[in-house]
Amino acid sequence: MIRTIIFVALAALVVVGAVWLAEHPGSVSLAWGDIRGYIEMPAVLGGLVVFAIMIALLYRLWWSARRVPKAISNSRQRGKKERGYKALTQGMVAVAAGDANEARRQAQKADILLGEPPLTMLLSAQAAQLNGDEAAASRYFNAMLKRPETAFLGLRGLLMQAERDGDTSAALAYADRAKTLQPKTPWVLTKLFDLQVRKGQWQAALKTLDQAIKLNAVKQDDGQGLRSAILLGCSIEAETAGNKSAALSFAEKALKQNPNHLPAIVRRATLMSEAGKTRTLPKLIKEAWATAPHPMLVSLYVGGGDALDALTRVKKFEELREVNPGHPESSIALARALIDAKIWGAARSHLTALGVGPGDNPPSRVCRLMAELEEGETGDIDAVRSWLVRAASAAPDPAWICADCGAAHINWTPLCSRCDAQGALDWRIPEHANALPKPEMAALPVEDIGETVAEDVSDDVLKQELLPPDSAELAPPPEDNPPAVNQSR
Ligand SMILES: [Zn+2]
Repeated sequence: MIRTIIFVALAALVVVGAVWLAEHPGSVSLAWGDIRGYIEMPAVLGGLVVFAIMIALLYRLWWSARRVPKAISNSRQRGKKERGYKALTQGMVAVAAGDANEARRQAQKADILLGEPPLTMLLSAQAAQLNGDEAAASRYFNAMLKRPETAFLGLRGLLMQAERDGDTSAALAYADRAKTLQPKTPWVLTKLFDLQVRKGQWQAALKTLDQAIKLNAVKQDDGQGLRSAILLGCSIEAETAGNKSAALSFAEKALKQNPNHLPAIVRRATLMSEAGKTRTLPKLIKEAWATAPHPMLVSLYVGGGDALDALTRVKKFEELREVNPGHPESSIALARALIDAKIWGAARSHLTALGVGPGDNPPSRVCRLMAELEEGETGDIDAVRSWLVRAASAAPDPAWICADCGAAHINWTPLCSRCDAQGALDWRIPEHANALPKPEMAALPVEDIGETVAEDVSDDVLKQELLPPDSAELAPPPEDNPPAVNQSR
């Protein structure tokens, strides 16, 4: 619009000028030696216009000619970059396809064409890894650390390498640096947490876990479940450092986080007992017994040893049984106290209720209690021997079993000692050691048993089995097909 107005204005100006010239005729005189001439004014003006146009055209030609080399150079550079990016893309595709040679070829091509190491170093490192040249890959990753724009990727590559080499300390150091660079990246937080747990840095892991929950890198529910186990790790860490009060404080926090967490219940009770805080302990154990009966709580409940006389112990275990009368652990704990008090009839009654008939398959420790009962009540050595034979082939006692690798542990730990699985220990019977088929030998004459199966049950072993029960006997009885208790997680 503006251009149209300007054009119309100029055209009007030209018309006005032409009219003015027509009304005011004139000429320009030229003299060169004897030669004289006159040029009319319109011709002079026309000549000037033509001259100006020619100058403008020449200038434009000169200006274009000057830019030609630069334009050719730019065009070449553009082509080179396009080929470089194409090589980079093809290299990445080759990495994804696992074609090591093609990946290396394209990485070199891209490096030459692009001349930008930050773009090609990662591809070169990946190509080196595909070729199995971890040393070269490591050099590329380390070179990436020197540039701010690639440092994070370099750290990630070195971290993965350290993990593959099983070097947890180096991996942890790289994860720490990665967190400094990108503190809100979810995989950095979860990886750092995982490595801190593996190194037993529980308090640092707790801090990282809280950050991960806050940033939704770990779901709220999963994180709260993990917190209890990590707090117990902090408790173990504090106890190892000799700080028992901090250990108890962490165990209490763990229990507050998850009131039904069996390891937390056991640990708090154990630490309270060690600290001499036994006044409220029976009450706390009775509260826990309703949801998490465990053999370790039994000795803590009565203070262990001979602190109480046998009849008082029976009375206390009767009270405990009332809290959870249907659980086998209650009956075993009471039967143990009754045998100690030589109240044979009641002890037999409670053990019989657990299933000890010819058609039953009682667990090993129930068989051992029955042997002790027979020895104390009747002195029938054949019956004793028969029960010990049954104990040898019965289902084993439960333990803390790793859900990932099946390793058994006497005490709960946040990490499996064999495979480092985290929070994987459940209180249950080892799956690979279920009871043998019910021994027919229980019904056989003792002499036959002695010849067939129980040849190795010597008198010494017999005496040993009749000794007062150890902690193993306090483990809860398994069912025939015992489900995992799953109270640890
Ligand atoms: Zn394991």
